[in-house]
Parts: sequence; C-alpha cells; structure tokens
Amino acid sequence: MAKEWKKQIRQVEPYTPGEQPKEKDVIKLNTNENPYPPSPMVRKLLLHPDDLRLYPDPTAGALIESLADYHKVKKEQVFVGVGSDDVLAMAFMTFFNSTKPVLFPDITYSFYDVWAELFRIPYEQPPLDSAFRIRKEDYYRENGGVVFPNPNAPTGVFERLEVIEDILKHNQDVIVIIDEAYIDFGGVSALSLLDRYENLLVVRTFSKSRSMAGLRIGYAIGHPELIQALHDVKYSFNSYTMNRPALEWGVESVKDETYFRKTTERIIATRTWFGEELRKMGFSFPESKANFLFVTHERFAAKDIFEAAKKEKIYVRYFDKPRIDNYLRITIGTDEQMKLFLEFLKGYLADKAC
Ligand SMILES: *Cc1c(COP(=O)(O)O)cnc(C)c1O
Repeated sequence: MAKEWKKQIRQVEPYTPGEQPKEKDVIKLNTNENPYPPSPMVRKLLLHPDDLRLYPDPTAGALIESLADYHKVKKEQVFVGVGSDDVLAMAFMTFFNSTKPVLFPDITYSFYDVWAELFRIPYEQPPLDSAFRIRKEDYYRENGGVVFPNPNAPTGVFERLEVIEDILKHNQDVIVIIDEAYIDFGGVSALSLLDRYENLLVVRTFSKSRSMAGLRIGYAIGHPELIQALHDVKYSFNSYTMNRPALEWGVESVKDETYFRKTTERIIATRTWFGEELRKMGFSFPESKANFLFVTHERFAAKDIFEAAKKEKIYVRYFDKPRIDNYLRITIGTDEQMKLFLEFLKGYLADKAC
C-alpha cells in the first residue's frame, strides 16, 4: 500500500548536467568549460586555510565592488551568487510570482523548466523558428515574466539588441531576465539597456569566459530595487552562500582584463576555423556567438557520432529532445583538441561512407 507520507514529498524531475567523466586523458567538449586556465593573477593569489574558520563576508562586498567598477554601475545594482545557476534560481523565486505563465523558448537552457516546476511557476515555451531564432511577437502577450539566454543555449544563436529591446518594450509590467552566460564570445550585452528598462535583469557567470566553473561565481545586474529584492530572498535562505576562496579569487579574475580578452579571442578564432572545417565535411550549424557550435549532418545521425566519439574518449553533448535530437553541441576547446576531434570525424565519416 502506498505510504501516506509519500504524498508530502515534493516531486521534481532534476536537471541533468553534462557528464563529468572520471577517466583521465579525455577530450572534454561537453559542458562548455574554458580550455584555458584562470588568469595568472588568480593562480598567484595564495589563500590561507587558517582563515577558513571564519565565516565569509555575507555581503560579498569586495567582489560586488569590483564587478560594479568593471561594469560601471552602482554597487546597489549588483548581486552575486554561487554560479549563475544559483542567481537564476533565486531570481525565479524572487520575480516570477504570477498566476500568468512565464515565457521562455522551447529550445533553451534546460534548467528553466526545472526551476519553474520546482517553484510551481506556470510557464509556456513559444517555439523558436526553423532557424532557431526567437519570434519576438510570441512575447507580446500577457505573461508572468520572460527569461532566455542571449546567445541562446544550446544553439549559440545571438539575438540583436533591437530584438531584446523590442521584447522589453512589450513587457514593462514584468521582470525580463537575460541570461548572458556566453556574452563574452562575440555578442553585445543588454547592459546598455539598463538605464531605460528598470525591469531588466542581466545575469552573468565566471564559469565560461573566466575559466572558473569550479569556483562557482555568478552575478546579476539590474535596478537597485530588483537587487534589493534578490538580497532579501537570499538572506531569508542562506546568508553565507559565497565561500572565501570564491570571494577572493573572483576579485583577482576581474582585475586581469588583458588575459580575459586574450583567451576569449583565442576561443573565437578557434571557433571560426573549426566551423569552416566542419562545413567542408558537410556539417551545418547556425552562426554561433558562444564557446560552442550546435551542429548537424544530413547523412550521419548525431546520436551515433556522439556514441562513437565517446568510445574514443571524446565527449560532446547530445540532447535526446524534440527538434534537436539530430544535433551535437560541441564546446570549443584548444586548437589541438579541435584538431583531434576533426581527425576522429574524418575517420568516422570515411568509415560510414563505404
Ligand atoms: C552554463 C550556463 C549557466 C550556469 O552557469 P554557472 O556555472 O551556474 O554559472 C547558466 N545559463 C546558461 C545558459 C548556461 O549555459
């Protein structure tokens, strides 16, 4: 007989992150990590384990100040969290409290529907068009809020600021969250719209362009009232979300603009030549402004390539989902890694062709 207490358990279907293989010497192109190490300034700053007996600064003051300076906004406009996943979860809880549905695309970051379910937020997912672009008119209707990444994940497609502004214009009564996890790889940030739209929240992360996925730092920038609301929720939950190493190393990373530019530009250059090589082999993909390509091939099934690559210890990402189940999301690694992947592909396609 079903136990009565089981009815008291919150039912959730959790997000499944990309695989983190245990074996060494794999080529890991499946979770959009940066192939380059964090800035030498981060590596140089030695931390003292003795300090760990003390709680960290609950206000994350130094990190917030460095981000405010960097983005030329007020301290009161910055919120930091344990990766942007933490910031986004907090933002869903804080800003999406309507009985009307929150809107986000059908093909997008697969954490959004998980949080919506977890927090019991109604939502709808207007389909992207056949080129994986947002149809802005889909966002003209009544809703409880809007959220999407720009560039989008897992497609890499970037929407121009005119599209973002148009969506903001039509949604001034709700909070609009733009998740800019990949903005540093060639996109144009919506931060410049903050002055005109106080309902805009821009979310960023140190995980991709700053090579610090393992440290867990994310942040949001918006109107001081939005940031205050996020702080109120955060302090009602856990005051000490950011650990001491994250607070200290985060500041160091922000200081090193030269290294940041060098590594992001290198990834963009690799993306360009790697993409050209893929096209020569018959792959196609939408233009990407992220550190990955979302590719498909007319004659070879994505799932089979994914499995064959894995046998060769090359990990890419495959989503067994409607509309995208013949695509692979390939993170841009070093030139060397991409060359090895191309060699694998050449062998694979030649093998299958005969
Ligand atoms: C990677 C990613 C995040 C989360 O990154 P964190 O490591 O939690 O900062 C958020 N949104 C999108 C679209 C992502 O791809």
